[in-house]
Amino acid sequence: MSSISKLVVKCPFCGTLVEVPTPDRVHSVFSTTKPAVNSYRKNIIEQRLKCSKCKKSVDVYWYEPLNNR
Ligand SMILES: [Zn+2]
Repeated sequence: MSSISKLVVKCPFCGTLVEVPTPDRVHSVFSTTKPAVNSYRKNIIEQRLKCSKCKKSVDVYWYEPLNNR
């Protein structure tokens, strides 16, 4: 198993890095905007994170891209 390094996104409001917990190995790609309906397989995992600085919620969408296999 390869180790998964910690993932972060930049808070869109203040620029602080927010840590993103990896949901699983299938949903390998994440985005802070919702992906287009036909650009992923099956379902999306939606995470609502909270910026530690400005306390605003940051939404992250995990999905499995179509060209994954
Ligand atoms: Zn923030």
